[in-house]
This record gives sequence, C-alpha cells and structure tokens, in this order.
Amino acid sequence: MREIHFGHHAAPATASDPDNYHIQGNFFLILLNAFTTPEQSFIRYVAANGFNLQLGIDLFIKLVALGILAWLGGEKFLWFWLCLRIVYGLGDIVFFRATHHQQGKYGTFEIKIPHILCTLGELIVGKTVIQTTINHDVHHQNPAIAARHLAMARSYIQ
Ligand SMILES: [Zn+2]
Ligand SMILES: [Zn+2]
Repeated sequence: MREIHFGHHAAPATASDPDNYHIQGNFFLILLNAFTTPEQSFIRYVAANGFNLQLGIDLFIKLVALGILAWLGGEKFLWFWLCLRIVYGLGDIVFFRATHHQQGKYGTFEIKIPHILCTLGELIVGKTVIQTTINHDVHHQNPAIAARHLAMARSYIQ
C-alpha cells in the first residue's frame, strides 16, 4: 500500500502512476476499476514487484480472517461486506478520479464542497480523509503536511 502510494505521488495521473487505472479512462471503466481496486492493486503490485514470503503470510492471514468472519456472520456478513465494498468503491472514485480529473483534464486538484458537507463528512469518515481529499493538490505539493493543516497551508503554498 505504502509503495503504491509513493508511486502515485511520484507521477500522479500519468502512465507511470500505479493508480492510473482508476484515474484515467472513461467513467464506466473507472467505475469497474474503482470497485475492484483492492484485488487489482494486489495483482498489479505482484506483477510489477513479484511475490515474496512476507506478502504470502500477509495474504494468508487476511484470507483466514475473512474466512472466519464469513463463517461466523453468514448472510449478515455478506450484506456487511457488500455495503463495505460499495462505500469503499465510491470513496475510491472520489479520492482518485475526482481529485485527479476535473473538466476533462488530468492533474491534481482541490475539491470545493459546501461547508456543511465537509463537517458531515469529517464526522462520518474523519478529518484526515476529508481534508486530504478536498485539499488533494496541497497534499501532493507537500505530503509531509498533516491533514488537519492542509487547508491552512494552502495560502502559504500557492
Ligand atoms: Zn493523489
Ligand atoms: Zn498521499
């Protein structure tokens, strides 16, 4: 995850961005890719960097945990998992596509949303996610700035 994110920072919304497959292209393709990002980023990472023991152990632990949860939860787990995947997919579209594609152009942009939506979003998903998303351009210019300071940093950076 970390390596993919660093790769994204090195060349956002370009062919060498490991996240490019869920940023560039027509919106239908982006929808399909955004909803399969967890699987695709794993497969793409292994294709580019190879498989190793640590990755195997991590994958095994996650699959066992998923299996236990599915076994314990049964149908309820299926609905929970489905909701989780939908929310994650929608979040993925906002965090990757909407921050890197605006008005037909690819780049790194600010997302302007009404203050009430910002407050609500921060209550639901947290300040870090919302601030890093709406101030994505500032985040890319200086990833060391903490999410809660991104809005304030904007006036110093531009
Ligand atoms: Zn980005
Ligand atoms: Zn980042």
